[in-house]
Amino acid sequence: MSKQLFINTFRELILRYRHVVIVSHVNPDGDAIGSSLALYYFLLKLGVDAKVVIPNDFPSFLSWMPGIDEILIFDKNAEKGIEYLNAADLICYLDFNAPPRTGLMHNDLCHCKKTPRLLIDHHRDTDFSQFVAYLSEVETSSTSELVAELIQHYGFDKYLDDNIATCLLVGIMTDTGSFSHSIYHSETFEICGKLISPTVNYQLIHSKIYNTFSENRMRLLGFCISSRMTILNEYNAAYIYLNKTDLETFNYQIGDTEGVVNFPLMIDTIRLSVLITERQGVIRFSFRSKGDFSVHEIAKEHFGGGGHTNAAGGTMNCTIEQAIEKFLTILPQYKSLLNK
Ligand code: MN
Repeated sequence: MSKQLFINTFRELILRYRHVVIVSHVNPDGDAIGSSLALYYFLLKLGVDAKVVIPNDFPSFLSWMPGIDEILIFDKNAEKGIEYLNAADLICYLDFNAPPRTGLMHNDLCHCKKTPRLLIDHHRDTDFSQFVAYLSEVETSSTSELVAELIQHYGFDKYLDDNIATCLLVGIMTDTGSFSHSIYHSETFEICGKLISPTVNYQLIHSKIYNTFSENRMRLLGFCISSRMTILNEYNAAYIYLNKTDLETFNYQIGDTEGVVNFPLMIDTIRLSVLITERQGVIRFSFRSKGDFSVHEIAKEHFGGGGHTNAAGGTMNCTIEQAIEKFLTILPQYKSLLNK
């Protein structure tokens, strides 16, 4: 479906469906929250009864965002979440494309499978058959950029306000690591240029997002780098692991390991970095890479996940030792690509 066809279809759908639920992925990040809230505010302006439902809580560095208190967190209030889903005549998937990414909401989403689905997303390998309309572009910075484009088609003059601009900037800023990766075209900067205004201060938003460490989080970062980072020079790769006890020692809060995986990539020779964490009995893998080495394939093939070329995630049900072992076992098959 082309962008133009999506926009035309969106216009028709929104005239017909007036109870819209926006859903995003488990462990929502800045783009998940930013794109969802921007679309939420936009739909309100179109006179639509819109709701945002996320599977679990957002990291605290997003708690200042406009509209954040309007979000329904499913694992805190499943009853209301189910009520919203059942009352919806259109469900929008934002910043994910596979229903299992909604975690514990997945079952309840399946129960209302007759409700039409709309997708706005930038992840790969989408099964488009489940959507009545989709705006899916892999080579785009973020879902927030796609939402910005949609609103721009309706007219920024008429629909853009400080809340929407702030949410969109948060999404684009966080998904590009402050414009350091995932920039595929000049439109990303052009759109951001339109979002910034005398009342939407980029530096202030940046500071609210990034200068928010607690002392524990800063010390956890130091511990990761000094005590838990292993460099595998043979593969131009590095990994960091954190077990449950480590997280407890530093009084781990949601979001505290955000960005940790990027640090090994600051070493000039390192092209692949992995953060392996143990949380509630599940091992989570966070992959990052530099250049054209794609972590999406590794995550998809070996760790039941996926993502983008330079950022992906996956999970395993095993011990942390087994998880590290698994990573070390599959690494040799990527040796030539990593040494290119
Ligand atoms: Mn995203």
